[in-house]
Amino acid sequence: MKAACANIVRLTATRCGNMIHVLKHVESITQHRDRTLLELGVASALFELVKAQEVNLYKASQHGEENYLSRVTHVGQDGVSYSQSEFDKGGEPLPLHDRPEMIACVEQSQIVRRHDTERELHIHCFPISIDSRVLGVLEVVCGAPLADDDLGTAEGFLGLYRNYLSLLDYSERDTLTGLLNRKTFDENLSKILGHLLSSQSGDEATTQRRRLRNDDGSHWLAVVDVDHFKRVNDQFGHLYGDEVLLLLARLMRESFRHQDRLFRFGGEEFVVVLRATSEEEVTAALERFRSTVEQRDFPQVGKVTISIGYTTIHPHDSIPDIVGRADEALYYAKGNGRNQVCSHELLLSTGKVTPRAAPESEMELF
Ligand code: GH3
Ligand code: MG
Ligand code: MG
Repeated sequence: MKAACANIVRLTATRCGNMIHVLKHVESITQHRDRTLLELGVASALFELVKAQEVNLYKASQHGEENYLSRVTHVGQDGVSYSQSEFDKGGEPLPLHDRPEMIACVEQSQIVRRHDTERELHIHCFPISIDSRVLGVLEVVCGAPLADDDLGTAEGFLGLYRNYLSLLDYSERDTLTGLLNRKTFDENLSKILGHLLSSQSGDEATTQRRRLRNDDGSHWLAVVDVDHFKRVNDQFGHLYGDEVLLLLARLMRESFRHQDRLFRFGGEEFVVVLRATSEEEVTAALERFRSTVEQRDFPQVGKVTISIGYTTIHPHDSIPDIVGRADEALYYAKGNGRNQVCSHELLLSTGKVTPRAAPESEMELF
C-alpha cells in the first residue's frame, strides 16, 4: 500500500513537472508579438516535448503554376535556423511534387505520416491552416512513430500557434477594409529596410543563394489616393463613401500579387509595398490597378478614379523620406490631371520635381 502510494506521488510529481514544462513553453511562445519568434518558439517546444530529431516549419508559396514550400524555421540536433523576416523567404523553395507526403498534407489538409526506410526516420506532416486556407506545413521528424500523447501535444501546440496567428492578424488589420493598418506599416517598412541593409552586406555565397531563390529585385512604395473623394461623401453620404473604400480594397487584393503588402494608410489613402526587378514591372502593376478602378462601376456612385505616386526604397532610406518622395509624386499627379501614376525618380530626372533637401538637423525647434 505504502509503495503504491509512493508510486502515485512520484507519477503525479512527474505529471506536474511535465505540465509546468509545457506551461513554460506556452508562456514563452505567447510573449512574442513577432511571427518569426513565435514560430521558433513552437518548433523548439515540440522538438523538446516530443523528443524529435528535427522540427521544420514550411510556408507555402506559388511561382507561376507550381506550388512551393520554403523552410522558414528549423530546430534540430544540428542547431537552429530561421529566416529573419517575412521578406527573407527562408531556404530554397522546395517544389511540392518532390515530397508526396507534403502534397497530401496540403491538399487534404490533414496529418500525413511517412516512414523513410532509407534513413529509418518517421516523418509527420501537420497542415497549418487558417480559415480553411493551408498556409504551410509543420514537419516533425522522429526515430519512431509519434505516440498518441505526443500527437496530441503536437496538435495542441499547432492549435495554439494558429489561434495566436489569427490574433496577430486581427491586431494588424484595418477594421473597415481588412488591409494592413497604419501601425503595421512602420513595423513592416523597418523590417524591409533591415532586410535590405543585411542583404547589401552579404558575401558572394549569400548573393548567389538570393539569386537562386529569385530574391533579387528592389522594393518600391506607392501611395494611392482616391480622387475627389470628398465629393463622393458630400453627394452620396459617408456610408456610400465607406462602400467605395471597401470595394477599392477588394480590387487592390485582386490586382496585386499575394506577396505585395497592402495597407490602409488612413482615410482614403492606401500604400502598396511591392518587390520587382524593374521599374517597368512596377509601373505596369500600378497602371493595371489604376485602370481597373477607372473601368469599374461603383454601385450608386458610378465612376471613381485614383492617383498614385511611387518611389524606390533604398537600404539607407528613412521611412519619412520614402513616404515623402511617394507623396511628392502623388502631389504632382493630383496637380496635373489626377487619374494617373507618377514615379518620383522619373519626375526628378525630367526636372518636374526638385531634389528633396536632406534634413539639416535631427531636431526640429518650434
Ligand atoms: P483629392 O483628389 O485632392 O484627393 O480630393 P479629395 O476630396 O479626395 O481629398 P480631401 O483630402 O479633400 O478629402 C478626403 C475626404 O475623405 C475627406 C474625408 O471626409 C473623407 N474620408 C476620410 N476617411 C474616410 C472614411 O473612413 N470613410 C469615408 N466615407 N470618408 C472618409
Ligand atoms: Mg483624395
Ligand atoms: Mg487624401
